[in-house]
Amino acid sequence: MGRVSTPDVAQRLADTPAVRDTILRAAAGARGLPGEDPRAMSHSWLFTGPPGAGRSQAALAFAAALMCERGEELGCGECASCRGILEEGRHTDLVYLRPQELSIAVDTVRDIIGQAASRPTVARWRVIIFENADRLTDGAANALLKTVEEPTASTVIVMLAPSADPEDFSQTLRSRCRHLYIPAPSTEAIVSQLVAEGAGESDARLAAVTSLRHVGRARRLVTDPTVQRRRAQSINLAEEVFQGAQGFQAAGALIKAIEKESKEAGAEADEREKADLEKAYGAGGKGKGAAKAQRDVRSAVKDLEKIQKKRATRRVRDLLDLALVDLAGIYRDALMVRVGADVEMTHPDFSGLAQELAQRVGEEGLVACQEAIVTCRNHIAVNVAPGTAFDGLVGRLRRACGA
Ligand SMILES: [Zn+2]
Repeated sequence: MGRVSTPDVAQRLADTPAVRDTILRAAAGARGLPGEDPRAMSHSWLFTGPPGAGRSQAALAFAAALMCERGEELGCGECASCRGILEEGRHTDLVYLRPQELSIAVDTVRDIIGQAASRPTVARWRVIIFENADRLTDGAANALLKTVEEPTASTVIVMLAPSADPEDFSQTLRSRCRHLYIPAPSTEAIVSQLVAEGAGESDARLAAVTSLRHVGRARRLVTDPTVQRRRAQSINLAEEVFQGAQGFQAAGALIKAIEKESKEAGAEADEREKADLEKAYGAGGKGKGAAKAQRDVRSAVKDLEKIQKKRATRRVRDLLDLALVDLAGIYRDALMVRVGADVEMTHPDFSGLAQELAQRVGEEGLVACQEAIVTCRNHIAVNVAPGTAFDGLVGRLRRACGA
């Protein structure tokens, strides 16, 4: 008695009843609870949904519902298993894979296949959660096929991807797993979560709305001034494109800030990873084997650096994309003002700028601005140099705004 009760799985998923019901029914079926339909369970799942919607949280909730230590409860939230899984993403029989490379090759998949083949040690189930499954190469997806199709009896694989569309996910894999869509949480759900974490009510609300209901980003917006600054910098581009050369300079400054931020975010983790690798190879022996060991460690470090470089590219791209989404939001707001639609603003704290744009730029121009941003996002996605892509953007925005 006296212990503060923690939310159970059903409460954690209360905001998305369809997701909650599917997960709980599957877990109940899997655990053979009386009266439950075992067919509600599947060994292979694909969870999709917009970024930040909580795909990984849903997957962890599912794992807790399966591995909860209390007889008939489906993820009590309080037993050691539930706490480990829900609060730290940790459990002996939980394998959480978060590959960071841009495309996931067969080697990474072999590791997953190996993990899927082992039996659980303490729980009844072994759960493998696999993020970024949209980045599987065709070869890697094919290598994974058999495991997804006929996993070991007590293994559950949950793959996470933005969507089940052909461009996002292997269709052969898709046809072998059960699909569950995780919608973005409501504004209210994010607000109450951030407030529970210590944010002020109005800050939390602003963050929930401007992050387009992306929980992780909303949290960073209330806690990290760098993120707040970059958001403002992105939105203000809409103002600066009217100022001739200044617009191009502002775009360049934004890219520089993003590259710096990405570098700082990765540097520490990269160093740690490298040190761990070197340690794993030992400090270097003596005699005949030493030279070979030296060569081995050098080649392993080189491979690691290649992966780290790919990861850094991905990070910069993701941040540039977020900046463009922020910028698109202000043109969308201006368009809503212009056509007199009574809807919630994407950037309520920049309503002055939205008003100004609505007056200065016609409806057609505002649509063209959004198209220019879509073009730029596509350029970034296919690896056009950021400077080139953003110069094109500023040029198109100036034309669309009649600047
Ligand atoms: Zn439990």
